[in-house]
Amino acid sequence: MLQWIDTLGRVEALEDVSFDRKLVGQLEARWGRLRGDASTRIHFYTPTFKSFQSSELRDCGKSAWPAVSITGGECKLQCDHCKAKILEPMLPARTPEALWRVVNEVIEQGAQGMLITGGSNHRNEVEYDAYYPVIRRIKDACPAFRIAMHTALVTDDMARSMAQSGVDAAMMDVIGAQDTITQVYHLRRSVDDFEATLESLVRTDMKVVPHIVIGLHYGQLLGEWNALDIVGRHLPDALVLVVVMPFYAPENRPFVTPDSNAVGGFFMDAREALPDTPLLLGCARPPGISKMQIDAYAVLAGLNGIAHPSDGVVELAARLERQVKVTPACCSIAVGEEVMALEDDGGVMVDLERILEHERGQRSRVTTRTLGGIPVVASADDVLTGQPSETWGP
Ligand code: SF4
Repeated sequence: MLQWIDTLGRVEALEDVSFDRKLVGQLEARWGRLRGDASTRIHFYTPTFKSFQSSELRDCGKSAWPAVSITGGECKLQCDHCKAKILEPMLPARTPEALWRVVNEVIEQGAQGMLITGGSNHRNEVEYDAYYPVIRRIKDACPAFRIAMHTALVTDDMARSMAQSGVDAAMMDVIGAQDTITQVYHLRRSVDDFEATLESLVRTDMKVVPHIVIGLHYGQLLGEWNALDIVGRHLPDALVLVVVMPFYAPENRPFVTPDSNAVGGFFMDAREALPDTPLLLGCARPPGISKMQIDAYAVLAGLNGIAHPSDGVVELAARLERQVKVTPACCSIAVGEEVMALEDDGGVMVDLERILEHERGQRSRVTTRTLGGIPVVASADDVLTGQPSETWGP
């Protein structure tokens, strides 16, 4: 039987990417102890399908899962890795009336759900109070429309208000190092406040999907393991791991690109610490070779979902005999992948033979954008109809 390091070598799209042999060996050894649990299944969210060519997905454009900011591009915190830049491309809805208008527009354009977020005040709270009646109105008028909310820090009362308004999924970043909270976020709150927030959220009936941003301390891993312990104490519905992309870091507080091997090691620890919690790799991670390494380690570690996988990693998963499931999500759905990942009825299964068959077919043509050099056909139905499968339902 092939060792994993040799399996990696067989994936053509990964042939120029180096991997830490020792880490790969450790991942393989630990996998032996994990096998049999839910980790044998992996779900990819990617637009890079044959079915992406269908008019349905092309048309959904940016409207399928829009992100809305209730503060527009403003944020008081100005964290060193973000400087509020994450908010800039979002749809602004600075008043409850504007939110109602925006929601009606996006539903008309075919949106299935939305992410509501906003800049923080100096306490790392997003001031949603005035918006809850409108959210309730939206959910009453359109129950199937999914609403995910970036909660920031909350109290029990705030979490209850969110749930009562009809928010489906609550997301927050769990930070496990006081130095990161103080230095990167410029925040006078404690690690305990982040844990208390998670505790308040899981007491509600919302789906709770916290994030751990790996490398948040200027590109170094510092509070990640503590964050993992916090998550382990409260067992949310899923955990999203993302890797910091410090494009907006100020020159005097530069970030390094997190070491991919350290990230891979953290994936392994996260998988072991949370064997029954869905672990998803969100779409934020550094591009290029780092992304390929990180994505491959995510597969090896047994993460359950990967948004926008790099070339080669779907093939890698299939070669490792994982049950490979694919959802043809276009880029705009990335903000909702955490919510979608909690629904088990989305996506379709694909197998290695099918992947390789398409790889061979693709090689004989001029290659444009592909998935690991392999365009994956989503399902027999998709082939027949040219339409993507349903990925989301009430
Ligand atoms: S609080 Fe959020 S939006 Fe504001 S700067 Fe920090 S990461 Fe960016």
